[in-house]
Amino acid sequence: MSTFFIVATPIGNLGDFSPRAVETLKSVEYIACEDTRTSGKLLKHFGIDKQTFSFHLHNEHKKVGHLLNILNANQDVALISDAGMPGISDPGFLAARAAQQEGHTICVIPGPDAATTALVASGLPCDRYSFEGFLPHKKGRQKRLGQLAEEDRTLVIYESPNRLLKLLDELEKYFGANRLMAVARELTKTFEEIQRGTISEIKEEFSSRDSIKGEIVVVVAGKGYSE
Ligand code: SAM
Repeated sequence: MSTFFIVATPIGNLGDFSPRAVETLKSVEYIACEDTRTSGKLLKHFGIDKQTFSFHLHNEHKKVGHLLNILNANQDVALISDAGMPGISDPGFLAARAAQQEGHTICVIPGPDAATTALVASGLPCDRYSFEGFLPHKKGRQKRLGQLAEEDRTLVIYESPNRLLKLLDELEKYFGANRLMAVARELTKTFEEIQRGTISEIKEEFSSRDSIKGEIVVVVAGKGYSE
C-alpha cells in the first residue's frame, strides 16, 4: 500500500511553507497540482523537482483514476492546491475518499488555510464556528443566507472582491445591520488588512473605496452574540 499525502501550501507568504511539507514533496514520486503552472513556481522556489499532473475541480473525477493507478503501483503521491489546505474550497475530498476506499494511507501535512486564519484574526468567538466556503452564486443563495442568519456559531464565508459589496448588502438584509463581523483581506501578504465592526459599519467602509482588490474572507458573529 502507498501513502497519499495531502499537503497545505502558503496562502500568500512563502515563509509559511513548513519544512515537513517541503521534505514530503521531495519524497514522493508524483505531485498532483490544482494548477501545475502556479505550483511550478512554488516547487521551483523550494528546489522540488518532481513529476506533476493537474488535478482540479473540472478534471478531478477523471484524474482520481490516474491517482489511484499510481498509488496501486506502490508509488506515493502528494496533492497540493493553489493555496492553503487542499479540500477546503479546493479539490481534495474525492481523492482522499478514493484513496481511503482503496486502503491507502492518508497523511495530511497541515498548514495555513484562509478560514481559520481569518477566524482567529476576527476577534470573534472561535471556540465554535461554521465554515460556509463560497455561497452559491445564484440558485439557493437567498435561502442559504436566510438559514445562515439563524446560526449561533461564528460563520466563515469565502468571497471574491468584486462580490463583497453585494454580500454586505445581503448580510445587512438577512442578519441585521448591527450584527458584528470582520473582513480579512490579503492574509499573510504585504497589504494584509482586518476590518471589524457592525455589518453597517463594514459596508460603509468598503462602499467608500474606489476599488476592492485581493483575496477576502468574511467572518460574521453568530446569532445572539454581543459584547
Ligand atoms: N484552500 C484554500 C484555503 O485553505 O483557505 C482556499 C481556496 S479558495 C479557492 C480561495 C479563497 O480563499 C479566496 O477566494 C479567499 O476567499 C480565500 N483566501 C485564500 N487566500 C487568502 C488570503 N491570503 N487572504 C484572504 N483570503 C484568502
